[in-house]
Amino acid sequence: MSRSAHPAGPRHADVLPEGHYSAPPADLNALDPKVWAHTVTRTDDGIVSVGGVEVTTLAEEFGTPAYFLDESDFRARARAWRTAFGHDADVFYAGKAFLSRAVVRWLYEEGLNLDVCSGGELVTALSAGMPADRIAFHGNNKSAEEITAAVRAGVGRIVLDSFQEIVRVAHIAQSLGTRQRVQIRVTVGVEAHTHEFIATAHEDQKFGIALADGQAAEAVRRALTLDGLELVGIHSHIGSQIFDMAGFEVAARRVVALLAAVRDEHGVELPEIDLGGGLGIAYTSDDDPREPHEIAKALSEIVTRECEAAKLRTPRISVEPGRAIVGPTAFTLYEVGTIKPLEGLRTYVSVDGGMSDNIRTALYDAEYSVALVSRTSDAEPMLARVVGKHCESGDIVVKDAFLPSDLAPGDLIAVPATGAYCRSMASNYNHALRPPVVAVNDGEARVIVRRETEEDLLRLDVG
Ligand SMILES: *Cc1c(COP(=O)(O)O)cnc(C)c1O
Repeated sequence: MSRSAHPAGPRHADVLPEGHYSAPPADLNALDPKVWAHTVTRTDDGIVSVGGVEVTTLAEEFGTPAYFLDESDFRARARAWRTAFGHDADVFYAGKAFLSRAVVRWLYEEGLNLDVCSGGELVTALSAGMPADRIAFHGNNKSAEEITAAVRAGVGRIVLDSFQEIVRVAHIAQSLGTRQRVQIRVTVGVEAHTHEFIATAHEDQKFGIALADGQAAEAVRRALTLDGLELVGIHSHIGSQIFDMAGFEVAARRVVALLAAVRDEHGVELPEIDLGGGLGIAYTSDDDPREPHEIAKALSEIVTRECEAAKLRTPRISVEPGRAIVGPTAFTLYEVGTIKPLEGLRTYVSVDGGMSDNIRTALYDAEYSVALVSRTSDAEPMLARVVGKHCESGDIVVKDAFLPSDLAPGDLIAVPATGAYCRSMASNYNHALRPPVVAVNDGEARVIVRRETEEDLLRLDVG
């Protein structure tokens, strides 16, 4: 795959493998295990099931649209990350991908830590019993209230994002009579996405403190002098949906160089580095994500090698996968409504949800797959575009996909790999009621986030 070093330009969330829909798949009824949750299979009667429950049963009981999350798959992926990184490293699940109290409990039980980036996420984590010292607090504009809540709770670390925040957190911690463990988030000049990364000296973005021009070194200098702070490490997060480890390699090299500079200047070896999240998953059969053990091995080799070269003790590594844990574990189930064939173009298939439950296609030009799941079909494939019911022509769920040409209103279709950044970014656009998240495991389905109701809408609207 290509890797380029062109100057930082527009975010390239739209980089797609070429020719991805040039030919219909050989078998429209097949379910590629790469994009579907582990327990998803088509039963003998042709109906797709997850966790041993058929989608027709799920639709009847919970309605559509709805997200169905394979609990055993979630736990298995969380455990795979934990195991791959072992005892000398920490895995922080990025709560922004999808957070609920059930998920927090699973993470706790599987030995993971948790990243939050708002007071709301913090409250969710704490209320589900995640010990505060296993929580990291992120964000480029944490409010004084949020910082106070995090320090009071005793979070394991706050990731400092600006010069102002260094002072703010130090002041709040000191006034609460405590010393807060912190990392400093640096921007290393690597922008990574999918098969590409760009390495530059400067980064044009709102997060972190630049390594360039000695900015990050200055931040370390200041943090080390403040009584309210215990600086434990450096943090870097380079992008999202990344398949190519080369961007992490550049990032790790630059972070380790900072650690060496800090040692030379202050005689202090910071004990931790966090390399962030951003590991890619398969949204379509064209994507080939790395396994956690490959990622762990690659990252630990890079850091160890760079530290040996700089004669530094190898710091404790942490990573923050969000999408890579929860993304593949859920699908969105929709009922097909209006079907509109446009001669010579494609067929528009309208579903009962849309950009309110999956904004990623509109926002990032994201790629998704889709399958007819309430029955099998031997009909010819048709090129389809799955669209929602919102008053907006950009309301597209799956831009280009093949579905059987006998598709009819009332059929159920499912979009896999919607566990990350779909429910968590869901909106009430057009006063849509945000769909529930239903965990399915071992023949049992249970709501972990309930569907919004018209009452919920009216309760917020105080008239
Ligand atoms: C978004 C984010 C993550 C998680 O990214 P994924 O692509 O879901 O793995 C991790 N760390 C930070 C700081 C983030 O902002």
